[in-house]
Amino acid sequence: MNLYKEASWFLSSNGKEGSLQTRIFNASQAKKVKTNPKHLYALVSSTLKYKPYIKKIIKSAKLLELEKALKEPMALLLVHDLLFTKSGRIQMGKTPLKESVLRHKTRLNAELTKLKLKHKVKSLDELIDEDDTPVRWFRVNTLLADVDSVLSSLDLKEVASVGKLQPGCIYRDEYIPNLFGVSPKERVTQSALYENGSIIIQDRASCFPAFILNPQEGDSVIDACAAPGNKTTHLAAHVGPRGAITAFERDIRRSNILKQMVKKAGADSIVTVNVGDFTHSNPDDFTDVTGLVVDPSCSGSGTFGRAYEEENPQDSYSEERLQKLSSFQFSIVKHALSFPSAKKVVYSTCSIHAQENERVVVDLLNDSNVKRAGWRVANRSRIIPMWHRRGLVEEFEGFPNPEQLAGGCVRALPKVDGGIGFFAVLFERDSTTEEGSVDHSAGKQAVQPSQEQVKSQGQPDSESEPESDYEEWNGFD
Ligand code: SAM
Repeated sequence: MNLYKEASWFLSSNGKEGSLQTRIFNASQAKKVKTNPKHLYALVSSTLKYKPYIKKIIKSAKLLELEKALKEPMALLLVHDLLFTKSGRIQMGKTPLKESVLRHKTRLNAELTKLKLKHKVKSLDELIDEDDTPVRWFRVNTLLADVDSVLSSLDLKEVASVGKLQPGCIYRDEYIPNLFGVSPKERVTQSALYENGSIIIQDRASCFPAFILNPQEGDSVIDACAAPGNKTTHLAAHVGPRGAITAFERDIRRSNILKQMVKKAGADSIVTVNVGDFTHSNPDDFTDVTGLVVDPSCSGSGTFGRAYEEENPQDSYSEERLQKLSSFQFSIVKHALSFPSAKKVVYSTCSIHAQENERVVVDLLNDSNVKRAGWRVANRSRIIPMWHRRGLVEEFEGFPNPEQLAGGCVRALPKVDGGIGFFAVLFERDSTTEEGSVDHSAGKQAVQPSQEQVKSQGQPDSESEPESDYEEWNGFD
């Protein structure tokens, strides 16, 4: 009974306060729900997926009119389990609630059959666009395992291209070292390798930033927006036990997930988690830091897997919201560009909107402090040159070299490019000569705004935090 009661609560509050996964995870951490969060999530997300059809069936069968004690969210869940699961079983003992649905079983089944006939399908699955990644990507965590032992333990047949992937096969990525793709049906998260941190589920494009920054063993780098920690642990694998990562995360709950992930990845001796706002850090305290990854909150327009959860998806990408995000992204990258010994800064988002991507780059390139510090967009040759999809040339019009600037950015389209939609750019500078050094006072003024300014710049509050990393975060595993 708990299962349905708690699920109906999440179903009723859908579309509010962040993603379904986050809400269930947080409620479970805070011990506000008793049910296993994995079961809760599976039930609620599947009910949401079929909701329009279940609603039609309930309406045609007049279920709510005949059973006054039954409320809509509970009816949706119970009918879902009765008609849309393999077992066709409502998972509760003999209760009046269960009986109120079961006594209409024949009528409900008849309505399901009518619906299938109407849509000319054998199963309603055929009407649902599977909102899942086309490839399940995982990275071998070289801090804990080596590629050969992982491959022999998985015992899958290697194929030469992503297109050839099917269950039982594995594809070695041609762009990112130690990255592999398998069919989403492959249960990699149930393997011991996943449990013990030897492999980390991480979308291919999400591996771009650490690869592009390419810190060397022993380097000291910053991950400015770190939770849940995919890029932090990837950076840790690059710098190794002699290196150091400072991982900033301003959301306390998410910083706990980050700490868990760092521990699981065997990176606790390399990573220092700094729970706080990166823009409030003092660059002069990090004179040994040579590189930074800035992967801030974004609209998440390149991600998928939440389509059924969104009540008003258009609100997430309104011009006003993109504008707010973009000024926040500008200020956080600008702060990263003010670190005195930094030679490279990677900026990335999982958004497909130019406002959060190329336009942020344009604003930074036009910023006098950034110019004075000698930052430029690295050439294509420095940023996964063989990757086909680059920045949008038209966004750099007005610069003498728009093609070159666009070539210095990488983009990925959701699904079409084998995973989430993504954007990354590398800023670099040769040396910290006097001319090339950052104007700290001006930089700090600009990047440490007052609280009011922070608000007007659209620093997203944690409640409305877009879970742009949703697809990668296996919070329940
Ligand atoms: N890089 C992460 C990964 O690959 O696993 C995903 C980062 S997610 C897109 C953005 C994160 O930045 C969120 O956890 C958010 O709470 C955090 N964040 C946003 N603004 C921040 C700030 N000013 N300082 C530190 N963290 C911030």
